[in-house]
Amino acid sequence: MIKLPIYMDHQSTTPLDSRVLSAMKPYLEGMFGNASSRHHRFGVEAREAVETAREQTRKYIGARHAKEVVWTSGATESNNLAIQGVSHLYRKRGNHIITSVIEHKSVLDTCSFLEGEGFRITYLPVTQEGIIRLQDLEQAITDQTILISIMHANNEIGTIQPVAEIGEVAKKRNIFFHCDASQSAGKIPIDVQTMGIDLLSISAHKMYGPKGAGALYVRSENPRVRLQPLIFGGGQEEAWRSGTLNVPGIAGFAKAFEIAVAEMADESERLLRLRTQLFEWFRKYIPEVHCNGSLQYRLPGNLNVSFAYVEGEALLELINQTIAVSSGSACSQTTLEPSYVLKALGVQGDLAHTSIRFGLGRFNTAEEVMFTAHYVAEAVAKLRESSALYKETQKKLTSSTTV
Ligand code: PMP
Repeated sequence: MIKLPIYMDHQSTTPLDSRVLSAMKPYLEGMFGNASSRHHRFGVEAREAVETAREQTRKYIGARHAKEVVWTSGATESNNLAIQGVSHLYRKRGNHIITSVIEHKSVLDTCSFLEGEGFRITYLPVTQEGIIRLQDLEQAITDQTILISIMHANNEIGTIQPVAEIGEVAKKRNIFFHCDASQSAGKIPIDVQTMGIDLLSISAHKMYGPKGAGALYVRSENPRVRLQPLIFGGGQEEAWRSGTLNVPGIAGFAKAFEIAVAEMADESERLLRLRTQLFEWFRKYIPEVHCNGSLQYRLPGNLNVSFAYVEGEALLELINQTIAVSSGSACSQTTLEPSYVLKALGVQGDLAHTSIRFGLGRFNTAEEVMFTAHYVAEAVAKLRESSALYKETQKKLTSSTTV
C-alpha cells in the first residue's frame, strides 16, 4: 500500500529520521542546560553533548582537530560566514573571489554583496553537463585571488564538481578553498584533507537531521584560516559565531551524520537503482524527456528532467497533491523565471520552463517510484493533449515521415 502524498523533494529538505529524534529528545527535555554554563551539571552535560558531536563531525569529514568544526544555524549561515569572514579578514591580501554560476543563492548573493564593497567576483561558467572546467578556474586566478568557493553537489541538478582537483589548484596557488557541501554531506564521501578543502559548509536538514542546525569546518593549519565574525556577543565558537548553542540541534546533526555515513554505501546504491528505474520508465512511457546535467557525476537520488511542451508549473499543479516535487529550485520559487542553473547549462528558455526535480530519499520505495512514473506519464500526456504547440509539432513530424 502506498501512502499518499509521496515525498520526492529531498534536495529541498529531508524528514527527520526517528533515530535522530531519539538522540535529540534528552536535550529538549531534562538536559536543557546552556553549554556555556561551566559550573553546574546542566551546563556540563550540554557541553559534553556538543563536544561529542564536534568530535564525531570532525571524524566524518576527515578533519584533524575537533575545534575546526564551528556550529552554525545551517548552510546559509556557514556560506555567509566562510565567504564574508575570509574576504573581510584577508582584504589586504587581495580582493578577488572565484565562484560558479550554479552556486546556491546564499553563495551568489553573498558574493554580489561583496561586489558592492569593492571585491571583484569571477563567476565560472559550467558545461552542458553542469560541471566547471578546471582550465577556466586556472585562467581566472590572479595575484589578487583570495578565495575559491565552489559547491560539491548542486541542489537543482545534483551534479558533482571535481572538488579534489579544485583543491589541488587552490593549494598550488595559495588560495583558500571553500566548498558548500550541503547537498553532498552524508550522501557521497567527503575528506577535507584529500580534497584540499579549507572551509566546508554542512546542513543537518539535508541529511535527515533537524532544521536550523549546521556547521562550518575552518582549517586551523596548513594553511591556518581565520575569519571575521558575522555575529558578535558571548564569544562562543572561538568567538567566530557568538550565540547560545542549539544543543538538541547539534546532537541531532551529529546523529544524522553518523547514520548517513554508516549507511552511505547501501543507501546510495539503492537510490541509484531507484533513480535509474524512474528515468527508464519516464523514457519508456513519455516521448521527449531530457535529463538536465550529467547522469554520471550526479548525486544518486537526484533526477532533474524536462518534459518538452509541458510547463513545469502546470505539471506541478497537476501532480503536487499526490507527489511532492519541485520545479526549478525550491529556494527561489517566488519567481517564475526559468532556473538560473538550467540557463547556465544552456537549456533553452522553453525547455528550462519544463523542468521538474525528483529528489529521491531514504524512505522512498520501489512501489512509490513505479507509481510516480505512471502518474507523471499520465499527467504529461494530459497536458500535451491541450498543447497546441505539441499537436502542431506531432503533425509536422508525421507528415515528414509519411512521404
Ligand atoms: N547550499 C545548498 C547547495 C543548498 O541546497 C541549501 C539549501 N537549499 C543551502 C546552501 C542552504 O542551507 P540551509 O537551508 O541549511 O540554510
